Amino acid sequence: MNNNKYKILLVEDEANILTFVGDLLESNEYQVIKAESCTEAETLYASYLPDLVILDLGLPDRDGTEFLRGLRQRGELAPVLVLSARSDEAEKVRALDLGANDYITKPFGSAELLARIRSSLRFMRHSADAGKLPGGIFQIGDLSIHYDARRIYVGSEEIKLTQTEYNIVVFLSEHSGKVMTYSSIIKAVWREPTNENSIKKLQVNMANIRKKFGVKPGEFSYIVNELGVGYRMDG
Ligand code: CA
Repeated sequence: MNNNKYKILLVEDEANILTFVGDLLESNEYQVIKAESCTEAETLYASYLPDLVILDLGLPDRDGTEFLRGLRQRGELAPVLVLSARSDEAEKVRALDLGANDYITKPFGSAELLARIRSSLRFMRHSADAGKLPGGIFQIGDLSIHYDARRIYVGSEEIKLTQTEYNIVVFLSEHSGKVMTYSSIIKAVWREPTNENSIKKLQVNMANIRKKFGVKPGEFSYIVNELGVGYRMDG
């Protein structure tokens, strides 16, 4: 077994999805550990300490969010990508607020799943090294954030943001690759409860940020709008 491979714990009780996703991951050079229930996932997580978890929510013994909650309560930071048959936004928000990094709704394509996995693994690397270091520079595509100087550039052009806009962008960059829900951003930036007004305020700021970044439809956008859920800095 190649120890340089990323280990992925795949938690899913549907045999065909388990096989399909398992084969997909293995053919993309990941090491796969399979679990079919919350209990099994807990045991295997403890023995293998995977780099990432792909988690179905509808499991036979308990809801997948119970496994997620336990993981985060123990301070385990491995990114969790939720596989959900539910198109219900409230369910996704709940999983994200419990500490999931991202979600993907069934049925999903192979390319999309692999992109989300790469993004979540990058998130781990960002939070481990870049970000908070003195003089640290965050870079994604043409966008760079110079945390110490509090300056943001697209290419060589400096982007002038308001204090609030800057704080939002920095917060998203510190969680790059992870979907941040409206309430988590509002709490971090304004320390306010989430309601229609604060969501509106966030959306207005986001629209201004995107305008200042000069994002055109179909182009690399730096920040992805997850409709009805939140925002994710591309990772
Ligand atoms: Ca299931």
